[in-house]
Amino acid sequence: MNVEQQYLLLPGPTPVPPSVLRAMSKPMINHRGTEFRQLLEEVTAGIKKIYQTDNDLVIFPAAGSGAMEAAVVNFISPGDKVLAVSIGVFGDRFAKIAGEFGAQVEKVNSPWGEAADPDQIQDILRADNGHDIKVVLVTHNETSTGVVNDIKAIKKAMGNHPALLLVDAVSGLGAMDLKTDEWNLDVVVSGSQKAFMLPPGLSFMSVSPRAIEAAKECKNHKFYWDLENALKYAQRGQTPYTPAISLFFGLQEALNLMLEEGLENIIARHAAYREMVRTGIKAMGLNLLVQDPVASSSVTSVLAPGGLGANKIRRSLLERFGVVVAGGQQRLDDFIFRIGHLGFVRPLDLLSALTALEIILYENDFPIEIGQGTREVQKMFVIKEDALNE
Ligand SMILES: *Cc1c(COP(=O)(O)O)cnc(C)c1O
Repeated sequence: MNVEQQYLLLPGPTPVPPSVLRAMSKPMINHRGTEFRQLLEEVTAGIKKIYQTDNDLVIFPAAGSGAMEAAVVNFISPGDKVLAVSIGVFGDRFAKIAGEFGAQVEKVNSPWGEAADPDQIQDILRADNGHDIKVVLVTHNETSTGVVNDIKAIKKAMGNHPALLLVDAVSGLGAMDLKTDEWNLDVVVSGSQKAFMLPPGLSFMSVSPRAIEAAKECKNHKFYWDLENALKYAQRGQTPYTPAISLFFGLQEALNLMLEEGLENIIARHAAYREMVRTGIKAMGLNLLVQDPVASSSVTSVLAPGGLGANKIRRSLLERFGVVVAGGQQRLDDFIFRIGHLGFVRPLDLLSALTALEIILYENDFPIEIGQGTREVQKMFVIKEDALNE
């Protein structure tokens, strides 16, 4: 099927709205001129609204992993002790980056499919009387499993311990609530190709005043990711090196769309997507990897039924119906498939994907009636109350 007709239901990259694509086709401007200064100021202010912060915020021309590396090199010195909270692939990645840059990493892992335990973090930090732990790394939404961590509770569990909290919110921010200022989050990184509805290539990092002070003492090597330099240039409405200007045009339009819809509505819409997908999957008789209370609003992991591998289901969804869903990563490969439902996704895109899935399960002799799962999802849309009576 033509890629322009596919249902792109990945947890990134996500579909890009046509108006954002058009905005990105504008001619280049001088990145040291007035127009760019205005553009940078406008988009920075817009992103801060999604972050719910008044902290400083820098934009990097990079994948999300770039901003993760920026967080590491600006706040962690070689030899620093770091507590890395990992509940999956992206938590592991944050820990790995810290290790590569010389940190002494202590990992606290949860089983894949579960959330981090704030009590466990509290115990570790309370035992650290000498305050040797300088930084705590945590993932907001673990994309590999579809689990959302309780960042507010984790910050609270840190108590008066002075360690900085660095949050990877690449796939969660703009889909689920993350109150950077109210929850007192020191550093939050995010990326363009998830809830921000842009192509890959931009990532963001907010920094609290306390984090900025800590960065001044940081001994790690950096040039591209240098926060102090980026903030100095931002004062003049510039970036230290050539920015990804086309993506900035797209970002301006994407933020217009997001702010027009309103953050609260966006968060509610994503929660509704989560409910739709989970309701449909459960009604089909399939199992979900993640329990309801910690389930992500961005992505849902579905366990492939016995005898029918996840990758075979994915292949059929793509070849027969043009539905693109993600596979399981690393040890979850072929055990799960992941339905992304964030950004520029419509409710009926999800219903279409569920319809296709039902047909494929039926054809593969999975015990299911046509309409068994999708009917329950359709009912969620019905306003007329009588229609819901059996
Ligand atoms: C997508 C994602 C990233 C960054 O991925 P890139 O491929 O580097 O853009 C980081 N963390 C999480 C939780 C993600 O979902």
